[in-house]
Amino acid sequence: MSLIPKSHPRAKSLYIRERLVEGFDSGLVAKEGLMAHGRGETFDYLLGEKTSKHAQKAIHAAAFALASADYPVISVNGNVAALCPREIVKLAKVTGAKIEVNLFYTNQIRKKNIVKALRKAGAKEILGINSKSAKRISGLDSARRVVDSNGIYKADVVLVPLEDGDRTIALKKMGKKVITFDLNPLSRTAKTADITIVDNVVRAINKLILECKKSKIQKIPYNNKKNLAGTVLEIKKNLSRRMPHA
Ligand code: ATP
Ligand code: MG
Repeated sequence: MSLIPKSHPRAKSLYIRERLVEGFDSGLVAKEGLMAHGRGETFDYLLGEKTSKHAQKAIHAAAFALASADYPVISVNGNVAALCPREIVKLAKVTGAKIEVNLFYTNQIRKKNIVKALRKAGAKEILGINSKSAKRISGLDSARRVVDSNGIYKADVVLVPLEDGDRTIALKKMGKKVITFDLNPLSRTAKTADITIVDNVVRAINKLILECKKSKIQKIPYNNKKNLAGTVLEIKKNLSRRMPHA
């Protein structure tokens, strides 16, 4: 039972924190994941905690990329498993994507807990857990470079929510089309990915599912750098609007 009163002005943000703390207590989330959430939260605050028109455009482009992919894969880490496991399963279902558990801070026990949480959320096939199909990708140090040969390794389009920059760069070097959810429009991941949805994954994933459910997704002109620049301008405008005036 939540201790946060519904009337609290920051209730939504606090509920999300609560889910992460529960995810930490049940062995899904790494300590570092809690801190990474803090960085995300800051940008969410600056963006006004809503889906911007730029994020909506990126969601549309992402839906088109997933619908036209031959072998799409969704990468899941601890934070994502704690925040939106059911939505990940739904998205995989509507796009025909595979789900792979892939952790920055590799840890077998945490991996097992994440698999359990995804199964509970309805996932049938989960990749990234069979050491026989583990493949190494180049350009990363040992702990961070393992992917599944039937998953990310084989994928043409990968969705990597809340990913680290080094790993995103390595995926791009492998020739993958990379889609990410990342609240920081200035991160290396945001700048390296082909499509960056600058929005809270909790808020934006349902919008992506809705977009993917449409029977015909139109191809739209999309430029990620331009979209990110537009997002930064939006933050600037928000800051001026909300600046305290003496
Ligand atoms: P990079 O390695 O890409 O330069 P970083 O080192 O600053 O980024 P990481 O911890 O590697 O950050 O990646 C986590 C990213 O996920 C951060 O950019 C953070 O803003 C973002 N993030 C955290 N929580 C959420 C969330 N709920 N929704 C969307 N993005 C989030
Ligand atoms: Mg990083």
